Amino acid sequence: MTVTVAIVGRPNVGKSTLFNRLVGRKIALVDDTPGVTRDRREAEGRIADLRFRILDTAGYEDRTDGSLEDRMRQQTELAIAEADVILFMIDARAGIVPLDERFAQVLRKSGKDVHLIANKVEGRSAEAGLMEAYSLGFGEPVGLSAEHGLGLADLHSIVSQAI
Ligand code: GDP
Ligand code: MG
Repeated sequence: MTVTVAIVGRPNVGKSTLFNRLVGRKIALVDDTPGVTRDRREAEGRIADLRFRILDTAGYEDRTDGSLEDRMRQQTELAIAEADVILFMIDARAGIVPLDERFAQVLRKSGKDVHLIANKVEGRSAEAGLMEAYSLGFGEPVGLSAEHGLGLADLHSIVSQAI
């Protein structure tokens, strides 16, 4: 059985950057514009010896019906339903914003195996955001830098526990 890992969170936290790093190819579009990844993408992810199915979720779909939040929620709920492991990503530099809290609510209700991932922790500007992340109620955040490849050993242990 292949384990399915979903990366979930609000736009611009670095989900697609992590997806690309785990897949090893530039499949997901990374952009400074929040929500630029329009479709959900899936591929085989790898961390060292581990192989798994990985889902990248978009900030929104390029559709005109429904509110932005409805569309994000819809995509997130689809990914949640399919996933064995959920990586709930926040931006440690930005800190916790109300939209993170709304994702947290949806994820809490899911009953799935949710791991809080605090991205962009390279350098010093992330410490306050890491502390704030505790308030989301998912325990200790795993510090990561998707861009610089830091924290992958912790992701390895999260995914390997699910296999
Ligand atoms: P998504 O909307 O959640 O998929 O976010 P993206 O992967 O498109 O990234 C949004 C922005 O954050 C881009 O400018 C990335 O280069 C940047 N980013 C992603 N990961 C990191 C990181 O670890 N550190 C920093 N400083 N920036 C990052
Ligand atoms: Mg994206």
